[in-house]
Formats: sequence, structure tokens, C-alpha cells
Amino acid sequence: MAVHKKDKTNSISRRDFLKLSAAAGIALTGLGGNVAKAGTNEAMAEISNSVKTIPLADVDQIRNKKIKIVPPKEAVRYEIIDSHLHFTDFLQKSDGFPALCRAMDMAGVKKSVIFGMPIAMECDSHFYYYSATDYLVAQQLLAQPDEIRHRFYPFCCGFNCNDKYAADHLERLLHIYPDFWRGIGEIMSRHDDLTAHTYGEVPHMDGGGFLGIYDVAAQKGLPVLVHHNITAQNTERILYLHELKNALAYNRQCNIIWAHIGISRQVEVKELPQIAHELLRDNKNLWMDISWLVYDHYFLDKFPDNYYDGNTMEDWVELIERHPDRFLLGTDKVGHWQTYPAEVMKYYPLLDKLKPSTVAAICHNNLLSLIKKY
Ligand SMILES: [Zn+2]
Repeated sequence: MAVHKKDKTNSISRRDFLKLSAAAGIALTGLGGNVAKAGTNEAMAEISNSVKTIPLADVDQIRNKKIKIVPPKEAVRYEIIDSHLHFTDFLQKSDGFPALCRAMDMAGVKKSVIFGMPIAMECDSHFYYYSATDYLVAQQLLAQPDEIRHRFYPFCCGFNCNDKYAADHLERLLHIYPDFWRGIGEIMSRHDDLTAHTYGEVPHMDGGGFLGIYDVAAQKGLPVLVHHNITAQNTERILYLHELKNALAYNRQCNIIWAHIGISRQVEVKELPQIAHELLRDNKNLWMDISWLVYDHYFLDKFPDNYYDGNTMEDWVELIERHPDRFLLGTDKVGHWQTYPAEVMKYYPLLDKLKPSTVAAICHNNLLSLIKKY
């Protein structure tokens, strides 16, 4: 997840952002039902018109067509649903849906989960929670023709999970876009530098606003994808696993997907397949996504600083065959699609070693069983 330098020409203008925020804010008031003026039919019609016509300056459709996707080095051999994909980057910019579909076509990806980025970069290395990311995803997706729209399972993620009222915000979002969201996430619990440089307390997934989100998610049947590092950077001591266990035990009706099996940059631990096995054995409401650098570092043993965890691809194959219905595959691309096909094809060496039924499970069936159906 590279953080790009701010590019003034392409970022959403302050004017457009204010218009978007105002429209979303008015819509919230109107849906309350007890605000006399905003709740009238005329007022609602005016609001929905204004919502539909807001120009999203950071998604340039002309630029979109020009985006060059690097073709894959081999032929497509597996059909995959991407379970972890950010529509926007840390500046809330995106190459857009048409270019993404071209990239997916080149990689054998028929469908994908899609969500924004709950944290935005202010300047230098300061970050803040950015709830408007869900509106950007929803407005863009709803503006696409059917053949594009039907390829995506949208998740909402724009929550400050330290906020005890985060669940209220989630419920408002579910009302504004009825029968739309298929899941929640990627929400941010412990994420090394990223959460350390975000205004406010460092979030942890067994407290704050997380618990309310789990309750709403369980009630509505929405899975929750959480980024939560298993430990801090540069220590082999497991520091944060108990927080995941607490969250899983808090509401057994809430299905949690542990993003990247708890791995992030410079998170280096031993016995990860064994830890994952025990967690899956003891927690029936847990799934794990194989995405981002857990695959490169732990499955392929390409650690950037010559760390070696002691496990091999064979250990991971054995683990997945033991729990074939509990793993998902995702790219974790962030708003830009030039290298998307390679990020999908990198999983072929793993898929080649699995039983056909396990391939079908982790490539699509598991995800389809988890997401909310309308
Ligand atoms: Zn993540």
C-alpha cells in the first residue's frame, strides 16, 4: 500500500467535496422522517437530483480510458472473485470502474468486492478518518451501466472505529443505500504506521466503536473485514492476538474476516500457519483473506530483509486443505489498476497445489457464502 505524493491537479476540489458533503448531510436529515421541510417529496426529489448530478472531479472518465494495464505474463487459468480491493487510494483518487473492469477481464476476475479507503492523507504523513469514501464508491458504482455495476459487491468502510457512535453512522449508511452494501470493511484496527499517524487514539478491534459495528453486522448479516496486525513491527512477540480473540468471542453471530492473516509491513512472526489453524479451529465465525504481502513474504518466503519464518508453501497448502471453507483471495490494489493482472496471477503457484474443490472454495464459493444477499 504505497502512499503517493499529493497531486493537486487530480485531487477532488474543495468545492466538489463541500457539495458532496452537503448533499450527503441533507439526505441524512431527510431520511430521519421527522424533519418537516427536508422530508417533503419536493425536497427529497431535489436532493436526489442534486446527489445524482454531483461531478466527481477525481474520477476523470477520459483519463480512465487511457489507463494502460500491464498484460499478464501467462494465460488465465482460474476464475477468481477478488475479495479485497480498494476503489480509492489515500487521496481518495481512483482510476475508476471502466478501467478496473478491463484489468479484471485480463486477469480472469469476473467479480470483485469493492470498498473505499477509510483513512485519507492530509499532508506529509498525517491521516484522518474519511467517511465520504463510502459515498464516492456508491455514487460511482450506481452511475455505471448494469454490466459494470453487477460485477461488484460493495462494502462500506468509512468509520472511525474509536467512535462509540460508529454503529449509528453505519445504520444511517445502510438506510441511505438500501439493499446495497454486501459487507463492512476494510475497517482499520492496529495498522502500524498508518494508525499511529492517524489523529486520535490507536484503534483496537475489541473496544471503542468496533463492538457496536459487530452487533449491527450480525443483526443485518453483513461480514466484517478488519485489518488488525497480529503484533507490532520488528518484534516476534505476539502482542495483539488476544484482541482478535476478544472480538470473535464478543458476538459469535458476527462473521469476521481477518485481513492479510494479521500481517503488514515489517510484521515478522514465527508459526503463523499454526496460529491460524488454532484460531480457525476455535472460532467458527472467523475467515482469513490471503491478500497483499502475506503471500509474498510468508507463502513465497520473499521477505525484504532476509527474515525467514521457518514455514514453507507446503505448510500453507496443508493449512488451507485443513480449512478449505475459511480462506479468501484478494489483491488489495489501492485505486490504481496498471499492475492488477500480475497481482492476481501471483496466486497461481498456490492454486496449482490445491485440490480443485479447494480452489473453487477459496476463489469464489467462500466469499459468496459470506456476503449479504438481497
Ligand atoms: Zn489492510
